[in-house]
Formats: sequence, C-alpha cells, structure tokens
Amino acid sequence: MLLAHKIELRTTATQGEYFRRCCGVGRFVFNQLVAKLKSGEKYNRKAFQKFCSTLRQATPWMREVSSRAVYEAADNFHAAVTNFFRSCKKDVGKKWKPPIFKKRGRNDNCRFSHSTQFTTNGRSLRVGGLNEQIRMRERIRFEGKVKSVTIKPYCGKWYASFLVEMEEKPKPDLTQKPSAGIDFGLKSLAVLSNGEVIENPKPLKRSLKKLKRRQRQVSRRYVKGAKQQSRRYTKVVAAVARIHKKVADQRSAAQHKFTSDVVKRFSRITIEDLNVSGMLKNRWLSRAISDASWCSLRWMLEYKAKMAGVELVVADRWFASSKMCSGCGHKVEKLSLSQRKFHCLECNLSLDRDLNAAVNLDRYKTTSGPIRTRRKTDRVGLCKTTSVAEPFEPVNINPTRKNEGRYQLHL
Ligand SMILES: [Zn+2]
Repeated sequence: MLLAHKIELRTTATQGEYFRRCCGVGRFVFNQLVAKLKSGEKYNRKAFQKFCSTLRQATPWMREVSSRAVYEAADNFHAAVTNFFRSCKKDVGKKWKPPIFKKRGRNDNCRFSHSTQFTTNGRSLRVGGLNEQIRMRERIRFEGKVKSVTIKPYCGKWYASFLVEMEEKPKPDLTQKPSAGIDFGLKSLAVLSNGEVIENPKPLKRSLKKLKRRQRQVSRRYVKGAKQQSRRYTKVVAAVARIHKKVADQRSAAQHKFTSDVVKRFSRITIEDLNVSGMLKNRWLSRAISDASWCSLRWMLEYKAKMAGVELVVADRWFASSKMCSGCGHKVEKLSLSQRKFHCLECNLSLDRDLNAAVNLDRYKTTSGPIRTRRKTDRVGLCKTTSVAEPFEPVNINPTRKNEGRYQLHL
C-alpha cells in the first residue's frame, strides 16, 4: 500500500531558492510541451523527451538545477496526455481534459522519484543538485521504502510529501472487539452506535468572521489592470492563505484523531454511502457539509481500516438508516432534518435521531459483494511508438491563445 506523508521542511534561504528554481524549470518545460502539443504536433514520448533534453542543453539557467526537474515535468506531461487520449478513445471512466499551461504560484511542485536523486534518514532530506541536508519538522512515521518525494510550497513554507510503500503486517486478532455503526452528521461530526458523540469542531465557521474581513481587504486593495499588485495586497493575500491553512489543519487534526481511534477499538465499522456531491447542491447546507468534510472522513477510514485489518462496510445508498426504527424495524414516511428525536409510532421507542441511524448501520448486513472503494487513478504505461527525434526548436507561448490548436490522437 502506498501512503504519502507530508512534512514541513525547515529550509534555509538558499534551499528555498533552489526549490523555487526547480519548480520554475518544471513549469517552463511543461508549458513548452503543452505549447508543442497545441501547435498541432503529433505526440510521441521519445521525441518530446528528446526535445526536453535539447531544451535543457540550450538554456543555461535550466542546468542550474537537477536534471530531474526537467524529466519529472516530461513524465507528468506524458501522464496527462496519455490519460486524455485514453479517455477520448473509451466511453467509460473519468473524462480527462487535455493538459493546460501552468501558472506560477499555482500547482508549483518538484518531484524526485529516482532513488539516486534523494536520500533521507527519516529526519533530514538530501535532494539532487543541492549538496546540503534539509531539516524536517518531524520524522517519517510510516515504515517502509520511500518511493519518491514531492516538494511544494504552501503558505510561505516548503513541504515534502514522502510516498512510502508500506510493508504488509500480520493482521491482529480482532474477534474480541465489538462492531460499530457510524452516522456522520453536521451538528456532531459523528455518532457511534454505542452512544458516543464526536464533537464537530466546525473550524471554518469559527474562522469565518476573520476570513470575511480579510477577504474584504483583499478586494479593496486589488487594483484592476495593474501589472503588479501592491505590497499591502500581497500581505493580506498571505493572511487569507494562513486562515485557510489553519482551518484545514484543524479539520484534518480532528478527523485523524477520530478515525485513528475508531479503527483501534472496533473490528467492524459500518458507515453510510453519502451522496456528498449531491448534498452540496443544497445551498443552505453546503458550507456546513464542506466544513464537516465527510469525503475525507470516509477516505481516512478506508485506508486506516485496511491497515489495521478492520472490516469497513459501506451501507447501500438507499438503506434507510435514519427513517427506520432501530427497535422494531418500522419505517417512517417522512423525517425532516429539524426533527432531532426519532419517535416510533409502532413500538413507542424514542431516541436521538443520529443514534438511531448509527444503531441501524451497525446491524446492516451486506447483501452484495465487496465494498465500493475509490477508484485508483489509472496508471499510464509506456508509449510504444518510435520516431526520430526532432531538432531543437523553442516554442513561443502566447497565453492569450487559449484552447487553440488541434490535438492529434497518436498512441
Ligand atoms: Zn419501533
């Protein structure tokens, strides 16, 4: 199993500058390749890679950083193009869009996936082209082989995301442990079938007032049409980013705490299959739903349960966990969201609505096969075409010419 561990780096000024250059080179190469494709040229991996090499040889500032910055960008481009062409051919699966130009400050990252290009002792990091130890804020907590490291800036700091191939551990004996049903909610983050209620920290709601004020400042300080915005504008944009980061950190901290605890205590966990993207269309609830972030809760439960050998059952989307009485199985016709208590007219049972749902989920029996988990991103294979490399020819990128040019299917 591959797991990523993101760790903050304690970079020096020179190290930060080096990473900035790596990201810049990667972006430049990627954009050159996009421009080449947009000009109507047939895609051929070898020819495009050769183009990258020639480009690097001809551009002195590109040679200041590790050559991996160039080739990783070419690999990213290859993955993007292959996914796009593949989804053009078949009518199934996710629809991919063609690769587009990258912009500075957005999706900046550099990856080192070759084992010769990075070394880490778990506490510090060394990457190709930079003969220095880079200190890390914490050590890698996952045991296994580190396959690659991706470095990206976020909120004025540099982060390294280590992709670790986890070793399979023997599954512990879980027969003594109880099972649980979990009902996700908005008022409380989750209610367990044993009556436990997990508080919802609602981090966005808590920071919303501050965020609104800062965002108002951003719009006030923004000068339309200006070539470069003022320092005061840049400062307040950074302040907005910091608030967003704090919200995200608070949210993920609460979720990690809850999911790690749950997989340790139970042998079987049943959750409901929520149609989150559908529910987000409800404009009265969408902000609160996003703040509770049920999708990432489920995703965390999925991988943590797999690691701990816990059985995770996802109840059918049409399983009426809320409307069914956990005492006698009677189904009520209507149950509005404001109705916090569940009252059964058949057996006179009265209990908390979420608890009732959690108990029903715990009793849920799987009727169909294995649970539906997230589909992994399609891995792209090698391109099997051969062609003679073309002479070096830098492409003129004109950002105003969006969506122009044709894409040729050639795989
Ligand atoms: Zn009943």
